[in-house]
Amino acid sequence: MVDKTIIKKIKAQVESKCEEMLSFFREIVAIPSTDSDIGAVAKRVEAELKKLNYDAVWWDKMGCIIGRIGSEDAEVHLLYDSHLDTVGIGDIDEWDWHPFEGKEENGFLYARGACDEKASTPSMMYGLAIARDLGLIPDNMAVYYFGNIEEVNEGGAANAFVVTEGIHPDYVVVGEPTNLNISRGQKGRVEYQITAKGKSSHAASNHLGDNALYKILPIIEQIKQRQDDLPNDDFLGQARITVTHLEVHAGSRNVVPSAVTIYVDRRLIAGEDAYEELKQLQALIGERDDITIKIPEFDEPSYTGFVFPLEMVYPTWLMPEDHPFVQMGLETSKQVAIESQISKWDFSTNGIYWAGKAHIPTIGFGPGEEQYAHTVLDQVKLDDVVKATEWYTLFPAVLKEKS
Ligand SMILES: [Zn+2]
Repeated sequence: MVDKTIIKKIKAQVESKCEEMLSFFREIVAIPSTDSDIGAVAKRVEAELKKLNYDAVWWDKMGCIIGRIGSEDAEVHLLYDSHLDTVGIGDIDEWDWHPFEGKEENGFLYARGACDEKASTPSMMYGLAIARDLGLIPDNMAVYYFGNIEEVNEGGAANAFVVTEGIHPDYVVVGEPTNLNISRGQKGRVEYQITAKGKSSHAASNHLGDNALYKILPIIEQIKQRQDDLPNDDFLGQARITVTHLEVHAGSRNVVPSAVTIYVDRRLIAGEDAYEELKQLQALIGERDDITIKIPEFDEPSYTGFVFPLEMVYPTWLMPEDHPFVQMGLETSKQVAIESQISKWDFSTNGIYWAGKAHIPTIGFGPGEEQYAHTVLDQVKLDDVVKATEWYTLFPAVLKEKS
């Protein structure tokens, strides 16, 4: 149990920094960071981290910005993960206000990235600085703010950070919107690419060709049928399989196609594995030379030109409800008078790397509601940004007490 006077001090400190923090929040929302280009917004974040006297502030190769408080040789490393990129704005005519200038009304800030997820950045950055000022960061602990890139290839920036910086956190909090609940998992996903090869000919002499489109049709039908065999999970929901895209390789529309590629989106629940599913789909196709299946790679360069190729596998992760780290999240909420429930995300997050691949205890906690992410109603309640700051301030102390 944390001393009540500590809670009072946290609330007073957060209150005193509130205006400064929220004006920083409005500034970073106004700096566009679509298409993975976080350069400009991360530069603004860098200046604020320095102003808040972080012990170390640096950029990694991918172009993510990191702030650390505490010694790099600490025994325990706690990382707060906040992605600074946003999805695009789509059709600007669909917005009733400017997506980057935003609109403030009834205590809500409406703008692209308000909830997904620029809101967690000021809360985390100020929270950790206030925790240091109040002596709430244990001597053996280093805490990190990690402002990263997530939208196009979730988990990629996190994975690259661990590899290039050689820092392997012991605990991670992901700041994607949870509406101040404690998220303990999400479905995984994987993409498959299936290519059928035939032989081209003029459509006028189709008997001389071998139509790749006809070859892929039964495969598409079998994938559609496979949905009925997929398992369901009480907490994460139904596993899903969908053919989402088809490319026809033919010179023109009067040619028998020589190759066709389809893409399959598979949503995985707990206990399912992307490579097991690959075997299942391979069995469904059969062993044949003219139809091949693979998991494609993500190898697009970041805005700094850094390439970190990864298979497009995003594992499911699910922390047990009674896991001490999940319970510490709930405990922290209770201490700062936030009524958090246990929750999950429907969308995908960097948790697929931290918990799914690196098996690091991970929870999600952030202001904003997932339902507004990626929409023209992207919004966050400013009071919740402030409340989240109290949570991020106290959490290292709860982690110390319980671990
Ligand atoms: Zn997000």
